[in-house]
Amino acid sequence: MHDDALLNSPDPAELDALMLIIKSFLEHLEYTLGKDKYSATRHDIFNALSYAVRDRMVERWLDTQQAYYNEDPKRVYYVSMEFLMGRTLENSLVNLGLLEQFREAMNSLGYDLDQLFDQEQDAGLGNGGLGRLAACFLDSMATKGIPGYGYGIRYEYGIFRQNIVDGSQVEIPDNWLRYRNPWELDRQEHLHPVKFYGRVVERKDAGGKPVFDWVDTEDVMAMAYDTPTPGYGTNTVNTMRLWTAKSTREFDLAFFNEGNYIRAVEKKMVTENISKVLYPADNVPEGKELRFKQEYFLACATVYDVIYRFRKTHDDLRLLPTKVAIQLNDTHPALCIPEMMRLLLDHYRLDWDTAWEITTKTFAYTNHTILPEALEKWPVWFFEHILPRHIQIIYEINDRFLAEVRKRFPGDTGKLQRMSLIEEHWERKVRMANLAIVGSHSVNGVAALHTEILKESVFRDFYEMFPGRFNNKTNGITQRRWLKCANPGQAALITDVIGDGWVKELYELTRLGDHAADPAFVAQWRQVKRENKERLARYILDHNCVQVNVDSLFDCQVKRIHEYKRQLLNVLHVITLYNRIKANPAGDFVPRTVIFSGKAAPAYFIAKLVIRLINAVGDVVNNDPEIGDRLKVVFLANYSVSLAERIFPAADLSEQISTAGTEASGTGNMKFALNGALTIGTLDGANIEIMEEVGRDNIFIFGMNAAEVEELRRKGYNPRDWYGRNAELKKVLDMIAEGRFSPDNHDLFRPIVDTLLNQGDYYMLLADYASYIAAQEEVARLYLDQDEWARKAILNCAGMGKFSSDRTIAEYAREIWEVEPMEIRPVLEFRQHDGVTES
Ligand SMILES: *Cc1c(COP(=O)(O)O)cnc(C)c1O
Repeated sequence: MHDDALLNSPDPAELDALMLIIKSFLEHLEYTLGKDKYSATRHDIFNALSYAVRDRMVERWLDTQQAYYNEDPKRVYYVSMEFLMGRTLENSLVNLGLLEQFREAMNSLGYDLDQLFDQEQDAGLGNGGLGRLAACFLDSMATKGIPGYGYGIRYEYGIFRQNIVDGSQVEIPDNWLRYRNPWELDRQEHLHPVKFYGRVVERKDAGGKPVFDWVDTEDVMAMAYDTPTPGYGTNTVNTMRLWTAKSTREFDLAFFNEGNYIRAVEKKMVTENISKVLYPADNVPEGKELRFKQEYFLACATVYDVIYRFRKTHDDLRLLPTKVAIQLNDTHPALCIPEMMRLLLDHYRLDWDTAWEITTKTFAYTNHTILPEALEKWPVWFFEHILPRHIQIIYEINDRFLAEVRKRFPGDTGKLQRMSLIEEHWERKVRMANLAIVGSHSVNGVAALHTEILKESVFRDFYEMFPGRFNNKTNGITQRRWLKCANPGQAALITDVIGDGWVKELYELTRLGDHAADPAFVAQWRQVKRENKERLARYILDHNCVQVNVDSLFDCQVKRIHEYKRQLLNVLHVITLYNRIKANPAGDFVPRTVIFSGKAAPAYFIAKLVIRLINAVGDVVNNDPEIGDRLKVVFLANYSVSLAERIFPAADLSEQISTAGTEASGTGNMKFALNGALTIGTLDGANIEIMEEVGRDNIFIFGMNAAEVEELRRKGYNPRDWYGRNAELKKVLDMIAEGRFSPDNHDLFRPIVDTLLNQGDYYMLLADYASYIAAQEEVARLYLDQDEWARKAILNCAGMGKFSSDRTIAEYAREIWEVEPMEIRPVLEFRQHDGVTES
């Protein structure tokens, strides 16, 4: 052990603090894990350290929950099927303000903190942007002092691990709990029953009013696991509560009577499958029965918990909306609405109008997509079979709602059909978005353009009926994780010149603008970026065996693989560059390293083929000696929060090239700009607002805008016209179609070219191609002037104030939730252990 640092520490109080950390760490290693320094693995060290950090969090957590109990503020429940948390250790240390103390303590024991951070498995309980947004919101709610909770499912298997084998995606189960999760605490006492199947029996109560009993159900228990979520520079530590499915204690006696013990145990195991695995589809609903049961499982356990907590201090349920706001992250948890109605009607015996007023005043709904195929619709027969009482309630909501529509818009049957909660096709379905809109007092989009599209097209009828219900909340990201932790070099440089106020108030970054013209600052900025690129280059060499040129332009597109995000358009540009170099091998070209990363849904054929194409193009380009290091194509396997944290700081160029009108907001775009990358993008989602903040001269905009996309679609778009008119484009597509990148199987990539030329090119890659290539030429030209590039990168970072999730959360709190921040004072003397502690 190296005690030098400790011995050199001049301040006795600091020495005490270090000793306490070391003591706590060693005690956890010995008593919690049963290891000593001879038997401990690196992962044991990580776990012991994490427990020592958790202890510090738990103190503030109990204070926070006790204060919520005592002061009874209005609380916010953020309900989400996904929480893409990533790693927790470093972020917790930063938020608690203990990073440097713990670094020194671990150093004195001979451990490198950064290496220990790399021991941690990601908590990958989400697919992409939607799940990551929920994670950023938890950080911001705690930082802003909002009494908030995240509610979700504790999947045993999170998003799959992606391996690349012979260029193709292979999915590996993510058994993230195998080596324990030191951050969670199981709450065996919080065990709620969740009912499925059965039937509804109607009877009359003593007063002759109808009563509905849901009977003969199959029950599953929901058990809570709590994870503390600390704010930055505050005592607030909020709770993320994730539910896991447990079988009920009672065995099915019928099986025992038959002497079939094993069959009885098997049945218990099947019920626990509900929380087994996250569905890996992003922006496409999975119409499977198990997914439907997961959604109800979350809704039922959460609503029960919310009402239980409310009723500990209140009798009158009509006050619920004054003490509770529930935010639905997309329609996935929308079953909370009929579930709350069921409890209020059937259990608490309120009349319909009272129950409905409580419900609609409590719920708010966030829409995340306008892709029509991504709107959730569940077959009516699922409800009849699995949730028979809920479909009765949904019909009643629909009858009353459609009566209102008829009154407002007499004779408009088209409107009635469009607005109905039930889609009347050969298979009748419940439209979950319609349910969420009707059952909420607020409906929000996640970027200005997205909200306008909701109002003008997707939900136009609803906007006409409830104009005051619609509002925008542009997404944001937490700068603690995405700048302070992920990019310590740039964070320190920024703090050097403007102080560290930006960590809590991102608009402080505006002051960086004054330094964009300072040559010394620009030189330091470039140096930081270069070091980040060297670090990523080492990672690429280790993982892809490709040597990349650190002086090349790092051109990055990292996000889920989806046709609307147009990774394929990027590939068309790469092949165009390749052809240009091959046609003029002695020419001057700005060297580029094109980096892709992202997962495809396992059943999404074209998306998986795009991954194969990227790797196939990489094989050709990277091994062509005539190309050298002027062009490299790299696909980094297993995109995740922790990989994202390595990529963003090293990026020069951020690819945000979705077809205008398809990307609701994007948040990757914000992470890139914050980390000093310039954006090449369409006028889509939050790109538009990024442009407004950084200035039109500091971003590369190309392609059609949303109105032009719609106009062209209306007029009739024929991609073959574009193919015929552009020789470079034609050559690129012909090369793919003819097997230039698949010598062993010439037809391998035919389906990709078919989607463009023979299936209508729905996302209009060919229409935007020429404009994209021209914008990329501008990018290359600017990159020749490294100081000018850096100046614009600094201005991009300086313009990111708006995109802190702190701003987003402040807007939700003020305009939707009507909750106030609350300061938590530490309870220093003693803590009450008399059972009133908030749970
Ligand atoms: C930010 C983030 C996303 C969302 O990226 P978009 O480019 O907005 O689609 C997805 N996955 C991870 C791991 C992220 O960190």
